[in-house]
Amino acid sequence: MIPPSWLDRLQEQAAHRRALGRERTIHPAVGVDVCSNDYLGLRRDPRLAEAAATAARAHGAGAGAARLLRGTCPLHDELEVTLARWKGTAACLLFNTGYQANATLLPALAGAGDAVFSDALNHASLVDGCRMARARGAHVGVFGHLDLADLASQLSGWRAAAPRTALALVATDAVFSMDGDAADLPALVDLCERQGALLLIDEAHATGLLGADGAGLAQLQGVRGRVPLVMGTLGKAVGAFGAFVCCDTVLRDHLLNTARGFIFSTALPPPVLGAALEGIRIARAEPWRRERALALADRLRDALGQPRQPSAIVPVPVGADAAAVRLAETLQLQGFDIRAVRPPTVPEGSARLRITTGAHLEDAQVESLIEALLKVLGS
Ligand SMILES: *Cc1c(COP(=O)(O)O)cnc(C)c1O
Repeated sequence: MIPPSWLDRLQEQAAHRRALGRERTIHPAVGVDVCSNDYLGLRRDPRLAEAAATAARAHGAGAGAARLLRGTCPLHDELEVTLARWKGTAACLLFNTGYQANATLLPALAGAGDAVFSDALNHASLVDGCRMARARGAHVGVFGHLDLADLASQLSGWRAAAPRTALALVATDAVFSMDGDAADLPALVDLCERQGALLLIDEAHATGLLGADGAGLAQLQGVRGRVPLVMGTLGKAVGAFGAFVCCDTVLRDHLLNTARGFIFSTALPPPVLGAALEGIRIARAEPWRRERALALADRLRDALGQPRQPSAIVPVPVGADAAAVRLAETLQLQGFDIRAVRPPTVPEGSARLRITTGAHLEDAQVESLIEALLKVLGS
């Protein structure tokens, strides 16, 4: 039985969410997928399913334990080696989810006296990592979105007053999940190297999609191998599940010993590892997939009069929550699976449709999506 005082509280909060039009509900997938992060169309590729089945037969359906106990199978090692080579780092450590990686690697590195500087539009998992670091006594500075002048001034301001042993870490999404724009990694690498700050980039939406070999934004921008902490996920373009941090062996060793989201969680199961290895192989071997996803995003941006971005995420700004929901529903009735994204996922007053493109889409589908969008947007 829920105590009556709790029931009152929960019902009040639910009524408040409803009044704001901010109730979150789970809708099944319907219509053409223009909202998932399956950019390369690999999620349902039979080769990944086959690789998952093969891995399950060879190594079991579950890992059985955390990595540091008995949970490691040869596929964990193979996937870490594959990812490190792809990203151009010496080592790699798998995490079960990107959320777990970001939320627990920041407090594993930054403690009392240290500082974490975080882009204002970073993913919620990095925001929670900052909160955890703050709970350990670190200073958290949020800098304006893509505003490196603000970051530089916050860094030097903090440095001037900080104890000599205190260290700084800078965390940013590579491609921003709700805006589809990208960080300037060469400038960030330079700034962090000059200031002695450790740079963490989150390549959740760049891995598999950007760069000559699909290795990500760092590769596209010519700084592959120069970013000390490259985090990414395997559940988006790669079509499987899980996450990783590519880094040097010193950092891997530190995270393996201190990141609680790694230590206290059952290892990724073998079928997921098999699927991820196959997803990475295909992502690299079939560049037409990323080229197609990006070309379709360009086509959509051009039609909407938006500047091009190196991503397959095309936000359509709306503003008011209710209007965004109404637009999404209208487009859903026309057969497109489009979802409204509302605060607190995005800042107040910036509700939007978040449209994504993928290799699985046909030209005709994107053209009719454009037609439908222009019509409902009244242009
Ligand atoms: C999806 C996402 C994550 C979380 O990854 P999961 O593996 O889904 O938990 C982290 N960061 C960014 C930028 C993301 O878009």
